[in-house]
Amino acid sequence: IVRVSEVTRTFRMGAQVVQALKGVDLSIQAGEYLSIMGPSGSGKSTLFNMIGGLDKPSTGKVYIDEVDIAQLDAYELAWLRNRKIGYIFQTFNLIQVMTALENVTLPMVFAGMSNDESVEKGLELLGLVGLRERHAHKPNELSGGQQQRVAIARSLANTPAIILADEPTGNLDLSTGEEIIALLKHLSSERGVTVISATHDHKMLAVSDRVVWIRDGRIDKIESRDQLNISVGAISSKDA
Ligand code: ATP
Ligand code: MG
Repeated sequence: IVRVSEVTRTFRMGAQVVQALKGVDLSIQAGEYLSIMGPSGSGKSTLFNMIGGLDKPSTGKVYIDEVDIAQLDAYELAWLRNRKIGYIFQTFNLIQVMTALENVTLPMVFAGMSNDESVEKGLELLGLVGLRERHAHKPNELSGGQQQRVAIARSLANTPAIILADEPTGNLDLSTGEEIIALLKHLSSERGVTVISATHDHKMLAVSDRVVWIRDGRIDKIESRDQLNISVGAISSKDA
């Protein structure tokens, strides 16, 4: 469903040149739960932005359903971001002046859905994340974990095939983080959503079909579930 081909990304600021990605090749299957792990500064968020069409490679290509997304016009790219991909960020990125329900229905309104229909679907999605009763609350009236659940409901607004999550548990305590991971896993295994998550959180390993380890802008190794040899309790969060 996603194919990254020889992607590099170089940032230039004056004389300083940072090669955030140095040639990444990766194919992701529909329905897969894929984690991207690696140290801080290794290029995870940069790769996330490439896959999500939020930034462009310096060289190389990103294909979604075998379409080179660099070839899309502004309208098609907006469609991709609104309909095909749901985004989840470490800092939730909810709109503070809107209620939980309004945050969730906004992408549906953009997609042209009627008011009644979007409210009905918005409440259903808030129900899925266990927050139907809190629909009238604004983000600052919700805990971090609840805000992230609203963000997950929002990411599902237009039934995306792909959910891209950048450090979705990064601002949450351990047990709240585990709830969010369980929710993402549910979406992947029960709804067939492709979940791609950049993370430091070793708890994520246990639910991943594959883990891509990035180091210094390159893929170090890719491990599938059976190679991971996970004993969750034994994994420390030392690099979280
Ligand atoms: P973290 O775990 O801390 O989120 P990361 O793996 O997500 O790290 P990236 O954000 O992808 O790392 O950054 C990779 C490298 O690219 C870093 O050296 C970073 O400073 C640099 N970089 C990222 N974005 C930019 C930018 N917009 N301008 C300049 N340099 C950037
Ligand atoms: Mg990052």
